[in-house]
Formats: sequence, structure tokens, C-alpha cells
Amino acid sequence: MKQYLSLKEKAKDCVLLFRLGDFYELFFEDAIDCAPILQIALTSRDKEIPMCGIPYHSLETYIPKLLNSGKKIAIAEQMEEPGKGGIVKREIVQILTPGLSIEEEERVLVSLNFFENNYFLAYLNFGARNLKLIKFKEREELEDFFLNEPIKEAIFPENLKLEEIVPKNISINKMPVDYFNFHLSKEEIMKTFDVLSIKGLNLEDEFIPVFGGMLKYVRETIKENLKSFGEIEIKNEEEEVLPPSTLRNLEIFKTMEGEKGESFFYFFNRTITPMGKRTLKNWIMHPLKEKKKILMRQEAISYFLKNKNIIKNIMNILKNIPDIPKILGKLEIGREHPREILSLGQAVAKLKEINKLILNPDCEILKEILTYFKEIPEEIFEIDKILKDDIPYLYKEGGFIKEGISKELDDLKKLKSNSSEAIFEFEKKERERLKIPTLKIKYNKVFGYFIEVSKGQIDKVPKDYIRKQTLVNAERYYTIEIKELEEKIMSAEEKIIKLELEIYENLREKIKDKIKFLIDLSEAVGKLDALLSFAKVAEEEGFTAPLISEKRELKIIEGWHPVVSKLVSLPFVPNDCHLDSETKQIMIITGPNMGGKSTYLRQIGLICLLSQIGSYVPAKEAEIPIFDHIFTRVGSADFLHRGESTFMVEMIEMARILRGATEESLILLDEVGRGTSTFDGLSIAWATVEYMHNKNCGLVLFATHYHELTNLSNELERVINKTFAVKEYKDKIIFMHKLIDGAADRSYGIEVARLAGMPNATIERAKEILFILEKADLLKDKDIKKTMPKQLFLFEEENPILEELKKLEIEKLTPLDALNIIAKWKKEI
Ligand code: ATP
Repeated sequence: MKQYLSLKEKAKDCVLLFRLGDFYELFFEDAIDCAPILQIALTSRDKEIPMCGIPYHSLETYIPKLLNSGKKIAIAEQMEEPGKGGIVKREIVQILTPGLSIEEEERVLVSLNFFENNYFLAYLNFGARNLKLIKFKEREELEDFFLNEPIKEAIFPENLKLEEIVPKNISINKMPVDYFNFHLSKEEIMKTFDVLSIKGLNLEDEFIPVFGGMLKYVRETIKENLKSFGEIEIKNEEEEVLPPSTLRNLEIFKTMEGEKGESFFYFFNRTITPMGKRTLKNWIMHPLKEKKKILMRQEAISYFLKNKNIIKNIMNILKNIPDIPKILGKLEIGREHPREILSLGQAVAKLKEINKLILNPDCEILKEILTYFKEIPEEIFEIDKILKDDIPYLYKEGGFIKEGISKELDDLKKLKSNSSEAIFEFEKKERERLKIPTLKIKYNKVFGYFIEVSKGQIDKVPKDYIRKQTLVNAERYYTIEIKELEEKIMSAEEKIIKLELEIYENLREKIKDKIKFLIDLSEAVGKLDALLSFAKVAEEEGFTAPLISEKRELKIIEGWHPVVSKLVSLPFVPNDCHLDSETKQIMIITGPNMGGKSTYLRQIGLICLLSQIGSYVPAKEAEIPIFDHIFTRVGSADFLHRGESTFMVEMIEMARILRGATEESLILLDEVGRGTSTFDGLSIAWATVEYMHNKNCGLVLFATHYHELTNLSNELERVINKTFAVKEYKDKIIFMHKLIDGAADRSYGIEVARLAGMPNATIERAKEILFILEKADLLKDKDIKKTMPKQLFLFEEENPILEELKKLEIEKLTPLDALNIIAKWKKEI
């Protein structure tokens, strides 16, 4: 207990798993807290101390349970062989936290900081060995980022109130401000990456505190540094093509309802390795901006489509590749199983064969991938030679090294088996000599080998038998000869285990030396898998290669929505899209409810995104420019936890889009201004179109039910009108889902309401009201153009008072200062 308490003192914020023989035990509060989480019985020691325990060999199954409920874990191991007298020495050998562990599910740790109106984030996926630094200008983008990533733990300086940004299911650690001190952080970074100057890392000063803070936390927690991590990705959210909100709006990883099964990624991902899946995800999140790189991926797809026969063979090799970075991560912190090393060795060795399948590819990216497969180091091939195929789960008890690896080991094994044989012989001999056919030689951990004779036969037992134990029906004995044999077996056994573990340790070290190469190799595997996935989709779904246009012109012929087209019961109607910055910059799309507007917007967004990640696209033909941003404002997303209304969220998103858009952007807007009164909404929508036109904010698709907006095409030269065709048949409407020139004059909302099953009386009454309203021409003032002020700039240049307000450090103001400042502003206004 003394030892327990002193270890617990060292890991106060952790659940301490205390190794006691074959169990990890939890005591006191830890036990009370965790027994229900682990679903094990709470007992007690000496009737006083609450206690529960888990068998040591099932540790791996219990760890995720604790981590998922936000616990940190400290594992205390026995540091010496038990049974040598005194209390066994124990030490904490590992600390695991919700964001810093390697399990089946992905775990990401982030560190956050805020200064000069920007959010800085350091991101670590330890299992995938992925390290990123990202700057966010907008709080909402950061919030969206949290929703798209498997983040399990966040740390930030204790003086910042960042917990409001972090979703509730993520565990939070507030760290002393010192962790984020600029100079200490700089040193921490240099020490971690073993560099004398920070310049070589290409790191902007502003990232130093957040990164240094994270590295310190990692070093102190897992007692490992991240040197072998390779490249640090540095991103500025503002420069990313896809803001996190677009990932949400285009339903890339989840639908708006939070379902993964009908998301774009679910449909699009045909990778078969964990590395491939991560690469594909990464490619989607970070579309390319260079034509050359886009074409390189297209070339790889076309290579595979021309050589379809090899796809299956490559896949047969790839499908057995385990999660290499994850295994290497475990290897580094000593939590791997030799079975995993074996699967890594066997699978990686096979990669060599891919060189014989992909012959002379006239394609840069494939050539680069192949170089890794040509350089697979000898050590990898050794794994399979050394480790047995059927490694026991409890490998620390030996029996997992092949024969022929060490003469000493083979000799010991022979000795052990000869001695076992001798014991067997002894039993046979004694049965005959003493005429006791039921005489048995048995073994248990306490007594070792012994001779068991049933009670009825004990008078035949000779003098040299020494009595050991009396049972109800039998007596147990040993002899000098038996003990000698036992000694031989036991000491051989001990030596075998020691030697096997030494051989394994040696192998581990050799592989550890190759981690850097293996990480690069796993990236090459990821790329190959992702490119094959592109090719498979292209082939199976009939996608085509888009031309990457140098002009600001978007041309899509017969495009379709890759996911919706799979879900609809009737055939999906393909549609064209033609926009350019000279004559057709903004497309106003009107049409009936249920006509297909939202689907169309998302479809164009997805096609442009696919083109820019180097994939083929769902269209008959396409010519697509490279966009600096794909902005979307689709549907409504409530962020009630943020305390903002739907309309407020919509306006925040709109403001952000208008601030960030450039001539090279793609903007997809659906029903802007719907969440408020008709006239307010219409005015905002109207002003927004004007703004985007006059500022030339890139190519725009604007779907709306404000039919008045179609008048803008007469006023603004680069605005065109399109609508979704409907047919009226008797009293019914038929949605054609076909985009045609022109404007809709009504939305058929009442018809859709009827289809939805609204009570007939309500429908009839609504028709009456509509008739009256239309007669009064309330919303169809033909002179609406005249009544609108010419320019209605909603988002004026920044106001100096606002600027000052933003920079104000409220926590440093006295109430009097605050009053004075307000007085000053009032005067200025
Ligand atoms: P609302 O204005 O009410 O939001 P909408 O015009 O945005 O409606 P969508 O939500 O895009 O309409 O489409 C409604 C449904 O019509 C879709 O769920 C889909 O089933 C079907 N649909 C959309 N586009 C097509 C198409 N091109 N071909 C076939 N079916 C389509």
C-alpha cells in the first residue's frame, strides 16, 4: 500500500493500474470510479480498501474503455522477478491519455492557443504519425474543424477560456501558462527535432507557443519525443480551398443529419488499407492548387484504366497490409505484439512484387511510389525468418522464435525436450517396476513435478520416494531423480525465454532504426491505394477526366450527383453548368420546392472538388478551373450550443464568405436570407448578389425562392437565370429535375405541402390566401427595381471603432476605463 500510494502521488491525475502478479489492480477512488466503466466487480482488500482488477493479458481490451470516458491512465509494472524476497520493485512505465494512445479507433490530441485575433492549433494523430499546425481566423471554422476530426483531447493555457469552443465529448487539460511560453517552447521544439536553429523547420513564430506546449505535454506524458515523425504540415485555414464549413455543407464525411453511411466519402472511398483511407481523406480535405500536381494524379488513374488487369493483383498485395504507422507507434512506446511485427514484415516484404506489376509507368507519381518498394531494407525480410507463424498471445513466456536462428536456443530446446522425454520414460519405468499402473507424474506451479499414487496403492511405494502432500484419494511424492530432471527442464525453460526475448529485442531495435523509411513507405502505400481507389471509382461509376482550364470558365456537360443519383428511385437527370467570369459569373437558380436546386449546387461543388484533388468526375465532359476556395452556404445548421439562431449562423457564414471570396473562388449559396422576414431576407439576398457581381467574387451559383431576384439579370450584366422545369398535369405537378434557361414565377410550395400530407383544409385555405396575396401583388411589385437603392453594401469596409473594440483586452479594464472608452466612442460616432 505504501508503494501504491507513493506511485499514485506521482500520477495524481491518472487512474493507476498497479501490477500485482497476473492482475492490474485499481484501489480507492480509482476502483470506485472505474469498476462501472470497466464493467468489472468492485471488491475490497482487507475489507476496507475498495479494489478491482483486470487480468494482465486483457489490458488492451480495457484501455479504450477508460480512455473513452476521458480518463488518463498510468501503468505501473513490476520491475523485477517476484519471489526473490522483499517487495517487488514497481515503476510507472507508461501514461496514456485520451488523445495520446494507439488503439483501434483514431485518437487525436490538439493544443490550442489564441492571440492577435487568431486561433492556433497543433494537431497530433499519434497512431497515424501525423503532425499539423493550423491557423484559424474564425472561431466558427475552428468549431467546424472539431466536428470533422477524431479529436479526443485538447490542451490549452489555463488563462484562456477556450473550453467553450471544444465539444463536450473531448477531454480538456488546462496547462500552466508556462507551457506556452515562447522561449521555452522554442527550446522544446529544437530539442525534440534535434536542431540547433528553428529556421530549418520552416516554422512561423506564431506557431511556436502552441507547438512547443504540445511537445512538452507529449514528452512528459509518454516519455517519447516525436523526432521520427517526419514532416510537420503547416496550414493556414484561410488559404485552404475547402473551409471546414464546406466539408459539412457538401456532406463530405457526414450528412447534415450526422450519418456517415450516406456521405460522399462513404460512397467514394474504395481504398483497402488504413493508410489509403487516411491519404484519401487528406487529399479531399486539402485540394491541390497546382495544375501540374492535379494532372499527375490524373495520369496515374489513366495508367490504371489502361492496365486494368493489374489492379486486382496489386489489391491482393495491398489488402494484407496492416496499419504500418500504428504498429510503428506501438513499437516505439513498447506496446506492440510480435504478431503485429510479423504481419508488418510479411506484408511489407510482399510490396516488392508490385515492382513487377507496374511496369514502366509513364507517370511521375507512380515512379516515385515504386522507388520505395525497390528499397525495402533487408531487416524487413528477416522478420519472417525469425518469428514463428503462430506466435502465442502470451509471447513473453516464449515459444515464438523459429528454429535455426540461434544454435544456443536450439540446443536448449533439445535439452528441454529430452528431459521431458526422460520424465515420461521415468513414469513408464516406475509403473512397471512398482506394478502401479495408475502412477502418474504431474506438474503444477507450486510443487513442480511430482509423482501421484492413489491411496489404495501406497503400500507399494518404495523408500526413496519422499512424501510431499496428502490428498483425500492420493499421496504425492518426489525423488532426487525427478527433481534433477525438473531442474534441467526449468533452467532450460528460463534460458529459452530469456534468449527468445533477447532475439526479439534485437529484431525490434533493427526495425526501430528503419522507422523513418517505413513511415515514408507507408505514405507511398497510402498514395498507391488512394490512386487505385480513384481509378476504381472512375471505372465503376463511369467518371471522366476533366480538363483543367486556365481560364475562369466552368463547363460541365451532363454532370450528376454521385451520391443522390444512387439513392433516388427514378433515373437521375444529369444537368449542365456553364459559368465564366466574363459573361456568366452568377447563376440565379429558381424553381419549385423539390425541384433539385440543393442537389444541383452540391453536385457542382463535388465535381469541382473532385477535379481539384486529381480525380475523374461524374460528368460526360468537364472543363474546370482551379479554385482558391470553394465556399458554400447550404441548408441550415443550428449551433444552439453556441447560442446563435439559425439566421445568425447563416449571416455569420455569409459575412465570412463575402470577406474571403476572390475572383478565383467558387461560391455556392442556397436560400440565403430565408430565416427572416420576406422583405429583410430579399433585401439581403439582393444586396449580396450585387456585391458579388460588383466585386467580382468568382463564379457563383445562387439558389433562391425569391423570384424577384431574377430581375437582377436585367440590371447586372453577368447575372443569368436558370430554373428547374416542372410540368403541371391536371391538378398535379411533375418535377422534371432538368435545369433550363429562365426564371420560375412560383415555387409550388403548396403543392409540395400537399404531397407531404398536410391536411386538405389547410391546403385549400393556403390556396385562398395565396390568391389574395397575389391579387394584392404584395410581393410582385413590378417597380421593385426602382424601389431598391442602387448599391446596398451590407458589409462595409471595417469600422475603426470595431477594430478598437476587437483589440480591447476587457479583462484588464476597470469599470471606469470602460465607461470612458464608451464615452469616447459616442463622441466619435
Ligand atoms: P427545396 O427548395 O424544397 O429545398 P430543392 O429544389 O433544393 O428543394 P432538392 O432537395 O435538391 O430540391 O431535391 C429534392 C429531391 O429531388 C432529391 O432528394 C432527389 O430525390 C430528387 N432529385 C434532385 N435532383 C434530381 C435529379 N437531377 N434527378 C432525379 N432526381 C433528383
